[in-house]
Amino acid sequence: MAKLDLTTEYILKGLTEKTDREAVKGKDHRHQKQCEGTHFRVEESDLVSYFETLTCFCKRPVSRYYTLEYGAILECASYDETKPFFNPRFVCGFHVHEIAWLRLYEQLLQGYTICSRLVELRACPLFNFTYCALFKVHNDYPSVPVGLPTCFCRKPIKMVHEQQVIKKQQDTLLKYLERTSIDQPNKIITNFICANRNEQGVTKCDWMNSADLSVFPKPKNKLHSQVDHSTYHEYTASLKLDVSAYLATTLF
Ligand SMILES: [Zn+2]
Ligand SMILES: [Zn+2]
Ligand SMILES: [Zn+2]
Ligand SMILES: [Zn+2]
Repeated sequence: MAKLDLTTEYILKGLTEKTDREAVKGKDHRHQKQCEGTHFRVEESDLVSYFETLTCFCKRPVSRYYTLEYGAILECASYDETKPFFNPRFVCGFHVHEIAWLRLYEQLLQGYTICSRLVELRACPLFNFTYCALFKVHNDYPSVPVGLPTCFCRKPIKMVHEQQVIKKQQDTLLKYLERTSIDQPNKIITNFICANRNEQGVTKCDWMNSADLSVFPKPKNKLHSQVDHSTYHEYTASLKLDVSAYLATTLF
């Protein structure tokens, strides 16, 4: 059966020749001037690992489910019952909306910067959680993981946002300065810690994990209404032109 799974090939088709780098630069610059978010460029080698391999935080091929609201949703490989890495109890927090995700990829390839306040993130707290964990940014949109692990005290842990401390090694100092002064703002890491960690006079523990390395109890329900593939296919077949048009528009 033919299906509308959007592939990176689709995005890459003819992209580089068509891109007007100067126009992108100007547009991105204007965006940064009026946006309160933080912005930085993603290294090309990182783009490959984030987008082309389409893996979850476990570094395994994402599993996909379909919705009529957001198109395909890409999640942790552990959801995929047909694969050997299926796990009935635990998952990572990866959750992105495929259309928005591939469109972002397209924008980054064209030369746009990562924006901590990407509009699509407002729509879904799980998507926002994933984006912030992956790119080490923070915004004021709702952000929640798929579940909350418990710490050694057996209490639900707390999500905190901490500034990343960058180690300035001498041999990379020049590169570091170049990058930080131009487009590398301080990264914000999302961590989970014992809820009592900073409290005085209460039981607490050293439990700590960064958001992208955390393992969560598998949720019983999906956040978005799931439809089977043929329903999705019928629906999207009628929208196919709209989706192409949507992808052809720019983020900013
Ligand atoms: Zn995973
Ligand atoms: Zn922005
Ligand atoms: Zn979502
Ligand atoms: Zn604890």
